Amino acid sequence: MLEMKPNCEYCDIDLKASSKHAMICSYECTFCAYCVEDVLRNVCPNCGGGFTQRPARPGKARRSGVSLEHQPASTNRVHTGYSLEEITAFAESVRDIAPSER
Ligand SMILES: [Zn+2]
Ligand SMILES: [Zn+2]
Repeated sequence: MLEMKPNCEYCDIDLKASSKHAMICSYECTFCAYCVEDVLRNVCPNCGGGFTQRPARPGKARRSGVSLEHQPASTNRVHTGYSLEEITAFAESVRDIAPSER
């Protein structure tokens, strides 16, 4: 099950489970859409993969036992350990390779 992390790993903005601005890589590294575009250049600093929009988890149980209330979002805030300089250098070296070819 997808871990709905509560914040952007870089700028620390809150990302609710319903946010349209939450982006994830295949390892569920989670960043806001602004950082993915302007800082990360669609290169995850942790794994080098690309990003896609995180699906919103339904707030209402439209099927029995399945909703944000039953499987709540994580409250564990995560912060990348990489500096802006490291992120930028890494992004520059990888961004021109399509995510499916990395
Ligand atoms: Zn951000
Ligand atoms: Zn990643």
